[in-house]
Amino acid sequence: MLNSAVLVLNRHYLPIDVTSLKRAFVMLYSGIVKAVDEQYRTFDFESWSELSVAAHAESIGVVGKLIRVPRVVTLTTFDRMPRRTVRFSRMNILLRDRHICQYCGVRYSRSNLNLDHVTPRAHGGKTTWENIVTSCLRCNRVKGGRSPEQAHMRLIRRPFRPNAVPFLGMATSRSFREEWKPFINIVDFSYWNVELEP
Ligand SMILES: [Zn+2]
Repeated sequence: MLNSAVLVLNRHYLPIDVTSLKRAFVMLYSGIVKAVDEQYRTFDFESWSELSVAAHAESIGVVGKLIRVPRVVTLTTFDRMPRRTVRFSRMNILLRDRHICQYCGVRYSRSNLNLDHVTPRAHGGKTTWENIVTSCLRCNRVKGGRSPEQAHMRLIRRPFRPNAVPFLGMATSRSFREEWKPFINIVDFSYWNVELEP
């Protein structure tokens, strides 16, 4: 549950990141973000924790209390946006690869996926967008500490650094939440706007 995904919006309600519930709670608690409900109302930690959880299936015990799980949060300050680069995180790598093992091409649930160094660290491989791919546990084990060539395995796609948080592929991802839908349409729009800029 604490690793499940939460959408982060900037102050203009544009999606800029996907983070873990754990991190979202830390940011909410420290006032960096506010929680957004389905009616676009915002709540700080205190007012959010006052909300009744009875009507909502998703809740979690935090600081000795049952609290509703936020699925969308919005930043309270301007200085953290706009985010031009995509945070290099496990979640964003899984989103880039759409939860598909980059060796066997099969889509798995998150718990069955690992991150794999294409060129192993022992051979000088770096921990970068271009050298990390999503791999199922089985392919990871088969590959071991070898390069794909040595292991006679092929990547289905060359890993790359995404230009924007990969929201466009998100609708098919297992991390995707219904609560995000109203905001993702906005990002499609802003995504294309950015592309059209000279
Ligand atoms: Zn695989």
